[in-house]
Amino acid sequence: MKTIVKKTDPQNIDMDVIEEGGEILRKGGLVAFPLETVYGLGADAMRAEASLKIYAAKGRSSDNPLVVHIADIETLDDIVSEIPESAKKLMQRFWPGPLTLIFNKKENVPYETTGGLDTVAVRMPSHPVALALIKSSGLVIAATSANTSYRPSPTKAKYVIDDMYGKMDMIIDGGTVGIISLKSTIVNVTQSTPMLLRVGYITKSMLEEIVGNVSLWINEMAEDSVRNG
Ligand code: AMP
Ligand code: MG
Repeated sequence: MKTIVKKTDPQNIDMDVIEEGGEILRKGGLVAFPLETVYGLGADAMRAEASLKIYAAKGRSSDNPLVVHIADIETLDDIVSEIPESAKKLMQRFWPGPLTLIFNKKENVPYETTGGLDTVAVRMPSHPVALALIKSSGLVIAATSANTSYRPSPTKAKYVIDDMYGKMDMIIDGGTVGIISLKSTIVNVTQSTPMLLRVGYITKSMLEEIVGNVSLWINEMAEDSVRNG
C-alpha cells in the first residue's frame, strides 16, 4: 500500500490535509494522526472491517479493545446505551483530554471495535489535529497507538513512518506529541462506584476530587488491561 504523508501545523490547521484524511476514513481506510499522548492509528469505529484493519496493520490481538475517539459530547449518544452521572462530571472536568471512559455500548458498535466486549471505551482527545480530523470525517474514530504491537508508542510522524510505512493509507504529520508522556487514564463508569482500570496522566485523587470514591482494579484482569498494544 502507498502511504500518503502530509504535514499540518496544529496551530494553523491545513484543512485540505484534514479533509483528505476524513475522506480516506469515510472510505474505510486507515489514517495515522497526532493525539496529545501518542500518534494514533485510526479507522471508522462503526465499520467492523475498518477496525479489523487496525489490528492487522499492528499485528495486535483482536481481543484487545480499541478506544473510540469523539470530537463532541453529543456524539456519545450514538455509541453508548447510558451516560451515568459520574461520567457526566468526569467528562465536564477532563474532556477534551487524556481520560478514557468505559460505557455500556449500543448495539450498533461492532464487536470488532470493542474486542468482543459489550462495553466500549470512549475518549475526546485534546490535540487540535485529532479533533479537526474527527469532525471533518463526520465519524467516530477507533484508534490506538500507531506502532507495531510491542514496539514503543510513537511521538513523531517519523517514527510512524519508520515502523509502519505502507501499512496505512495516510499519515498526518502534526509535529511532536507526548508532552504528556503518559497514556490516557482509563475509568469504568458502568458501576455505581467508578473503577480505575489504568492510571495515566490523570491520577486517582484527581478523579476522586470530582466523583468521590473511585475503586481500584488490581488483579489479573488489570494486568491484562494494560498489556501492550
Ligand atoms: P490504548 O492502549 O490507549 O490503545 O487503549 C486501549 C486499551 O483500553 C485496551 O488495551 C484496554 O486495556 C482498554 N480498553 C478498551 N476498551 C475497553 C473496555 N471495553 N473495557 C476495558 N478496557 C478497555
Ligand atoms: Mg499502544
